Amino acid sequence: MAMECSKCDQPAVMHAAYSGAHLCETHFRESVERRIRKRIRTDDLLPSSATPEEPVTWVIGLSGGKDSTVLTHVLAETFEADPRVELVALSIHEGIAGYRDESLEVARELVADLDVEHVTVEYESEYGVRMDQVADADPLDMAPCAYCGVFRRDVLSRYADDLDADVLLTGHNLDDEAETALMNFLEGDVAQMAKHYDASLGPFPERREEPAFVPRAKPLRDIPEKEIALYAHLFDVPSHIAECPHSTESFRGDIQDLMLSLEETHPGTRHSILAGYEDLAAMAADRYRGETTSELTPCSTCGSPTTGDRCRKCEILDSLAD
Ligand code: SF4
Ligand code: ZN
Repeated sequence: MAMECSKCDQPAVMHAAYSGAHLCETHFRESVERRIRKRIRTDDLLPSSATPEEPVTWVIGLSGGKDSTVLTHVLAETFEADPRVELVALSIHEGIAGYRDESLEVARELVADLDVEHVTVEYESEYGVRMDQVADADPLDMAPCAYCGVFRRDVLSRYADDLDADVLLTGHNLDDEAETALMNFLEGDVAQMAKHYDASLGPFPERREEPAFVPRAKPLRDIPEKEIALYAHLFDVPSHIAECPHSTESFRGDIQDLMLSLEETHPGTRHSILAGYEDLAAMAADRYRGETTSELTPCSTCGSPTTGDRCRKCEILDSLAD
């Protein structure tokens, strides 16, 4: 016999071992949306200075995978009618055959029903090269993701600026965040924790003062991946499921296996890793403040802020031209 919801007498559609709750469809939906709204409040993404005359602009990274489609769907449902918020979805087409065309099709299908502006940026038109070609040529002898990450950061910061973003929201979930936390611990990289903290948390109105820096927010970071998948399934949020053919994150894979087995025997492990990590990262950020942010000057080729003479993106583009 099916379990009953812990809050009403409807049949439960899920059981959260970390809280002991069984929830029906209605209460599950409420629980997911409540956690997202709570993050928006605690991260102060909608400050009191936002008005219908001067709304805040939230740029949402939309890949078409379930995390980003659920995030876009919930934010649109909650804030579409709120004149204090402008929503823009930003998709990146890296040029990866058999992968990105399909996921961006899903992204377009999603926004077609929503009152959200949608901008798509292609590596090919930005840099004259597709990610598949970069991975093939590999002039600097690096993993494909190392090139791709430099291009992605460049696109995100330039377009966030163009679109006048107050904050850039991404769909990272609890599993992603707990994995990243554990990877930083295990690599002993405290400075990286400080950077992670500075980029993703902290009071956001102040951050707006710094040029060339758009703060990041991850409103799904309290929600386990499985619950996001269930939400997409139950409420017909379109999503594309596939792995990038260039992905080679073997360390993350190992951490993922470790974490899922810990979670199974000790429910709540992901939540406690993340809570502890956020505290530690805040302390690390205090400790390293001033040390990690070296002076930024414009790249002599493209003008992007960089610590050296030329930025990493321009170095990569040169190496590809050789
Ligand atoms: Fe780019 Fe790597 Fe992500 Fe593929 S897995 S889209 S190569 S960063
Ligand atoms: Zn440059």
